[in-house]
Amino acid sequence: MPASTVRDVDILVIGGGQAGLAAGYYLNRLRRDEASGRSGQAPSFAILDANREPGGSWQHYWSSLELFSPAVYSSLPGYQMPAWDGVGNPSADHVARYLCTYEARYDLPVHRPVRVEAVRGADSGFSTDTDAGQWTSRVVISATGSWNAPEIPRMPGSGDFAGEQLHTADYRGPQSFAGLDVVVVGGGNSGAQIAADLASTARVTWVTRKPPRYLPDDVDGRALFDIATRRVKALAAGETGAGGVADLGDIVAVPSVRKARDAGLLETRPMFARLVPGGVQWEDGSKLDADVLIWCAGFRPDLHHLQPLGLTGRNGVPATDAKLPTTSVDHPGLFFLGYGDWCGPASATLIGVGATARDTVAAAARYLAP
Ligand code: FAD
Repeated sequence: MPASTVRDVDILVIGGGQAGLAAGYYLNRLRRDEASGRSGQAPSFAILDANREPGGSWQHYWSSLELFSPAVYSSLPGYQMPAWDGVGNPSADHVARYLCTYEARYDLPVHRPVRVEAVRGADSGFSTDTDAGQWTSRVVISATGSWNAPEIPRMPGSGDFAGEQLHTADYRGPQSFAGLDVVVVGGGNSGAQIAADLASTARVTWVTRKPPRYLPDDVDGRALFDIATRRVKALAAGETGAGGVADLGDIVAVPSVRKARDAGLLETRPMFARLVPGGVQWEDGSKLDADVLIWCAGFRPDLHHLQPLGLTGRNGVPATDAKLPTTSVDHPGLFFLGYGDWCGPASATLIGVGATARDTVAAAARYLAP
């Protein structure tokens, strides 16, 4: 498309990962309902995705990463993830292939690679600038994930460290770390999985702010989804006693983590106080040599394309409507999908995003209705 062309749709979905595809599935269903006479005119829509290939962030994960859950509990609406015949739970590549098939199966109108640079308010709704031209729409569903917004905490001495500092988002596997002193920082799932992945290749020290809290070994993604859903429902009903996933633990004991943990390879040290040229140093003055630091410190919602809209919110999370937490309170017609529990229970998971996508598409269609 020439950069000067302006294209118009009713609903523009930004991001073609699992969340954007789940929205596409329900938007397609509106088209089917229209074709069968079950409903009025369905909104037109397009999905813009910055990646060259389908699969969202899954195509960038390290190849030994395995899902929290078996294939049967890791599906988007409509089409079950094919069975995984490898060891443990499905790999990231398996998910990327599944998303690729999903997109083709439902013939979703994904345009890629198209990077959205800025979304602005316009008389008719929104005007969206991309690196391949402009789009206008009455509704924007932002589903850009968090992969491009890694968190790296500021530490004293950061600039002095002579080794390499990476984030989870840079990790591609243990190959390039053979024989190196590696400090893995972070007590969540990425920290545990990367420390386990490196344990037999590098000299790994796993550093966490608090002692690691493993979820019971039988808790997998499905149980996490059930717990998150129960908690959100209880809170909505005004009950305060319902515990969330965080009450149970932080780390899903996937088979690779369980194996390393049970072999005694996942001992941790408390958080260090500063970086020094040759490694890290604790408050008591003790030091540890390190060639590489891997920060497994999480991600923020990647919403920089929405900056021109001047969204209100706290800690990088935009203000949303309590009744449907994917709805922006600042801009009617703007929705957020897939970023985390703040926009729906387990909305950042394969099993959880379908329900929020369904409700969001329904709300967008109501918003567009005459
Ligand atoms: P993404 O998958 O990140 O997709 C967003 C898409 O938007 C990308 O294709 C990107 O190119 C595109 N995009 C971004 N910005 C722009 C822009 N400006 N313009 C156009 N396009 C843009 N979830 C599970 O369900 N089970 C698990 O076992 C699991 N394990 C995980 C392990 C790790 C280490 C991590 C990091 C996450 C894990 N997750 C798991 C979570 C899950 O992978 C993510 O939450 C999920 O990929 C989010 O999907 P998404 O569609 O919201 O975002």
